[in-house]
Amino acid sequence: MLDTDSNTDATNGESPAAQWPNPTKSRYSKHITLTTYPGQSGVDPVPLEWGAKDAKTRGPIIVSRNGNMLKRRNAMGAHGGSYSIYNALAIAAGDLPPDFRPDFRNTEPTFNFPWQPAWADPTKIVSMDPFGHDIVNQFREYLDAGWDIRPTMAITRAHMRLAEISEAVHKGKLEVDGTIVVNADGDVRVTKVAVEPVWYLPGVAERFGVDEGTLRRTLFEHTGGSYPELITRPDVKIFLPPIGGLTVYIFGPPERVSDENIRLALRIHDECNGSDVFQSDICTCRPYLAFGIQEAIREAQNGGSGVVIYFRKEGRALGEVVKYLVYNSRKRGGDTADKYFQRTENIAGVRDMRFQALMPDILHWLGIKKIDRMLSMSNMKHDAIVQSGIKIYERIPIPEDMIPEDSRVEIDAKINAGYFTTGKQYTMEELAQVKGRGWEKWEDVTH
Ligand SMILES: [Zn+2]
Repeated sequence: MLDTDSNTDATNGESPAAQWPNPTKSRYSKHITLTTYPGQSGVDPVPLEWGAKDAKTRGPIIVSRNGNMLKRRNAMGAHGGSYSIYNALAIAAGDLPPDFRPDFRNTEPTFNFPWQPAWADPTKIVSMDPFGHDIVNQFREYLDAGWDIRPTMAITRAHMRLAEISEAVHKGKLEVDGTIVVNADGDVRVTKVAVEPVWYLPGVAERFGVDEGTLRRTLFEHTGGSYPELITRPDVKIFLPPIGGLTVYIFGPPERVSDENIRLALRIHDECNGSDVFQSDICTCRPYLAFGIQEAIREAQNGGSGVVIYFRKEGRALGEVVKYLVYNSRKRGGDTADKYFQRTENIAGVRDMRFQALMPDILHWLGIKKIDRMLSMSNMKHDAIVQSGIKIYERIPIPEDMIPEDSRVEIDAKINAGYFTTGKQYTMEELAQVKGRGWEKWEDVTH
């Protein structure tokens, strides 16, 4: 029998859910619990106190619906961000048992980031679990008892080689120091921190200036009703959303990052796969990323610290399909800088969905109190960081000689709209003269 008296559950043959054919070898009970309610028989979420001073007082985050976990859960969503769907596919395909438990031996961080006061401040960190890297250590007894509890952060180290950095080394613009830039090929040592999103809904709502109920209802409606407990479980405050996370790249000793007496160069970079990886020349993303990495390395070589944070927010968080639609609209409509934002607004409704309000969380987690050299021109990133209480002393625009010709439309439009520059700020009339490359020659080639 069902462990709920709710009539939204599939309790009999007439319910729509029960009309689906049962899986050939059922991995699940015949009855589907579509949602739960506070006070329902047996529902007893493991206590969780967001903003508590340490992990054990805060409590483990539990999202699993397996077996009796459904009643003890204190979070909605699933681990893995957008990859949670692939996890479900692997289970559906029979490649992975639904009750699989990872073996976490030897997965612990390569560097133990020191505890920061922000980890215990429910207003400073609302979009990641500040103890997400230390789950195996902090909640060992739960894991040993078979509870499905997982890290939402991982910390490792690696070597990296970027063509622009190798070139800078070859040209003598960066030196081989043996510990950060380790050889004449330009190989660089880096500490990396991967973070999956964990949202504390009251805190997220506050950042966006809406009430929690509005945030919950909107998330529920616009994920196709995927998370009914956003509505039925106001007592559950944690949501693991199906979106991408971020990666921190640290150059130089990681213990320097939080040291206020050491200079810090930092770039916040939002994903642009076409430019970052495939080097399309319609925007300045890859050149600015490479410049940011170069300057982060330089700062570390000078005894400071360099940090680059990469957010998975493709195409201003509009995604590549919308981005390419905008490209077509731009190129077919006469690609001038004065119409740059309007083209995006016509298709997406807004010019940008990155909403930097949650971005500073990772800076507070790292213990950053000031940024000496901010390698970004974005006024939105700047304002979000400064409003969260972190000082920015200097802003460094991308050097003119690193701007691809076809990306002038983008960069000049952004500067006109408030992006920081030490160079020229164009008027709207002048922006109408800043044109991108047309498709004429390309079409000659393809036809
Ligand atoms: Zn780009």
